[in-house]
Amino acid sequence: KLLLEVRDLCAVITESRQPILKGVNLTIHEGEVHAVMGKNGSGKSTFAKVLVGHRDYEVTEGTVVFKGENLLDMAPEDRSLAGLFMSFQSPVEIPGVSNIDFLQMAYNARRRKLGEPELSPLEFYGYIAPKLESVNAKIEFLSRNVNEGFSGGEKKRNEILQLAVLGADLAILDEIDSGLDVDALRDVANAVNKLLTPTNSVLMITHYRRLLEFIKPTYIHIMDDGRIVKTGDISIAEVLEKGGYKALSAT
Ligand code: ADP
Ligand code: MG
Ligand code: MG
Repeated sequence: KLLLEVRDLCAVITESRQPILKGVNLTIHEGEVHAVMGKNGSGKSTFAKVLVGHRDYEVTEGTVVFKGENLLDMAPEDRSLAGLFMSFQSPVEIPGVSNIDFLQMAYNARRRKLGEPELSPLEFYGYIAPKLESVNAKIEFLSRNVNEGFSGGEKKRNEILQLAVLGADLAILDEIDSGLDVDALRDVANAVNKLLTPTNSVLMITHYRRLLEFIKPTYIHIMDDGRIVKTGDISIAEVLEKGGYKALSAT
């Protein structure tokens, strides 16, 4: 079943009007894992942020349909309520707010919008405890302030914990592998794999093939200068690994 259809998507930086996305096409079905790779500055993060409705960018052309609805017409909160989740390349710190309070707030806000009763702190604790285990994070993790003083690996684990708590039909993961040692990467990847079902999908952005050994993509896309210039299976990543992006454009 079709989940996301992006057609000829063009976007500019809101302030400077500089074009960044120059006609992106991408189709994602339920249960698929898509990887977007590409050189630094090719527009990968911009693409992800445009999908979640980041105000730094303005769509100038093209369409995005998510679960049968026009995504571009929806406010960022509504995109998230509709089942779109994004982990940021550089997660923000929220001094003075504990991680568990933040997660409970976000989760209850979602339940309110869906017309479901909010969970009490105790109920929420029961809900989150097994999820904590699934990302291999210690209980102390919850009482610390959101991302404050977190190591790179802890921030990534925390992003996946947010995903596990909120749930998503399409999770966009921007460089969840950056700055992780191999053990932390394995943990984060295992947690993502546990969240995969036949009906939800992942769009992961990465520079490196290493992540693809842990989370197996159905398709790999190469982005260059604001467009997806090549789509294929895992063999694309192998060509990349050996010869870099130059080798790929030669094939
Ligand atoms: P990638 O994630 O592939 O490394 P980005 O999407 O972050 O690439 O950036 C694509 C290009 O757009 C880069 O040249 C970057 O400097 C520029 N860019 C993206 N967002 C902004 C912004 N908010 N202000 C100025 N330039 C931006
Ligand atoms: Mg980059
Ligand atoms: Mg980026």
